[in-house]
Amino acid sequence: MDPILIAGGGIGGLGAALALARAGFPVRLFERSAEFREVGAGIQLGPNVFHMFDRLGIRTAVDRDAVRPDMLSMRCAVGGQEITRVPLDGMVARYGNPYAVTHRADLHRTLLEACEAEPAITLETNRPVAVFIEDAAGVTLRLEDGESVRGSGLIGADGLWSRTRQVVMADGRPTVSGHIAYRAVLPMESLPEEMRGHRVTLWAGPRLHLVHYPLRRGEVMNLVAVFHSDHYVEGWDQAGDPRLLWRHFAATRPEVREMLSRIETWRFWVLCDREPRRGWTRGRVTLLGDAAHPMLQYLAQGANMALEDAVCLADQLRRSDGDVARAFAEYEDLRVLRTGRVQTMARVFGDIYHAGGVRAELRDQWLGARDPVAAREGMAWLYERPRWPGDEG
Ligand code: FAD
Repeated sequence: MDPILIAGGGIGGLGAALALARAGFPVRLFERSAEFREVGAGIQLGPNVFHMFDRLGIRTAVDRDAVRPDMLSMRCAVGGQEITRVPLDGMVARYGNPYAVTHRADLHRTLLEACEAEPAITLETNRPVAVFIEDAAGVTLRLEDGESVRGSGLIGADGLWSRTRQVVMADGRPTVSGHIAYRAVLPMESLPEEMRGHRVTLWAGPRLHLVHYPLRRGEVMNLVAVFHSDHYVEGWDQAGDPRLLWRHFAATRPEVREMLSRIETWRFWVLCDREPRRGWTRGRVTLLGDAAHPMLQYLAQGANMALEDAVCLADQLRRSDGDVARAFAEYEDLRVLRTGRVQTMARVFGDIYHAGGVRAELRDQWLGARDPVAAREGMAWLYERPRWPGDEG
């Protein structure tokens, strides 16, 4: 069988390569950058993704770097009071797996090392994918350097601005949300003791929030500050102007401003998503991760979903005995409602976090009245292990 070709070596692309190789398929992965790398920022891992780590055989490596926080705590960024909290110690008992946080670069490196150790995977950097032509027997991929390669199928794991999607779905550009994220990581010892909490803290305010949590066995603190602004139209991983951030956070609590003041260099993201849609698959070509279902980060699930996609896709290929078109169609069908629900609910959670005025009062009353078990139970649709045919593990 010709290899399965993958465009993009982010968390989704590497996860797909590994899942396919573990299922017995040869893979060639093309990454446009000169080297494989992830940005220096944190990532939250729901219990749902831990089953994927088990299936990919990387659980021990993930556990080595990840932090298991005690709780999720939501506080008012203006008044300071705690709005609600979700203790995380019951996650394993309820969902079979923990809630954790890790450094994106650590997760990416773990996937990369596992891929490098797989003889069935060829990884190629500095190889931007330009275009592809599909026929009944396979796919011919044209790289920007002019070379053509042949595969039995193509997975577009090329992210939010996916070229593969442009050909498969031709549905224009992603939706710019008007929300900007500033991210930074700082050494834990640079923070006073009272700011080092072993928890995920979210300070919610009108049209803004700040999240912080520890990473790398508690050695560093991850910060993500988000606010609404039409200052930037689009962009990705650029140096952020702190003056803009300060303007938006001027009316927040001293604890919030104190945390922000510790950062010297920020990176910023213009947050985008899309409406959920069917049609990621066309014959022997399909999409995965942000290319298929980009979502706002308010449920902290984009990479989690990409890894679920990867394992599900490999399971369908194995079940179809290498009938690539059938497997890709089944994969999309199995994944579209779940990922569409996360895309939809992520927007709703963003509205809840960023509420102001009476809406904020209603939120505080509603969330404040919930008991912690109900809060945990409310996420069962997301955190329970997803099921699909072929996942017997
Ligand atoms: P990407 O990571 O975008 O990877 C795409 C890859 O394809 C890149 O390496 C790129 O260089 C390559 N590429 C692009 N075009 C080409 C081409 N033509 N040829 C070859 N290669 C190409 N998710 C979570 O699960 N938990 C979180 O807590 C979380 N927090 C987040 C916080 C913020 C502020 C943001 C912005 C996102 C967050 N996410 C989170 C979402 C998560 O980062 C993404 O969903 C995830 O990284 C998507 O992975 P991907 O592999 O699909 O795409």
